[in-house]
Amino acid sequence: MLQKKNYKKMKKSLFETTHKCVICKGDIEIKRNVDGIAYWNRGHNAWPVAKGNCCYKCEEKKVIPRRKLQLLFDQKKGA
Ligand SMILES: [Zn+2]
Repeated sequence: MLQKKNYKKMKKSLFETTHKCVICKGDIEIKRNVDGIAYWNRGHNAWPVAKGNCCYKCEEKKVIPRRKLQLLFDQKKGA
């Protein structure tokens, strides 16, 4: 009984842990569904800006522009 309870608790807290953004070192926002249950806490892949996971703000402001640049560069290289 007790083990089962503990397992449930662990499962619930899996996405309740706040991770740090590798770019701005801030907290990565925890995504919750309509019931308020956390389902994702790791933000986005920070590549190619950094190795690890970053917050949503950094993904929008730094990672996406960098990826677009990278894409342009690759296209130029290929032409
Ligand atoms: Zn960040």
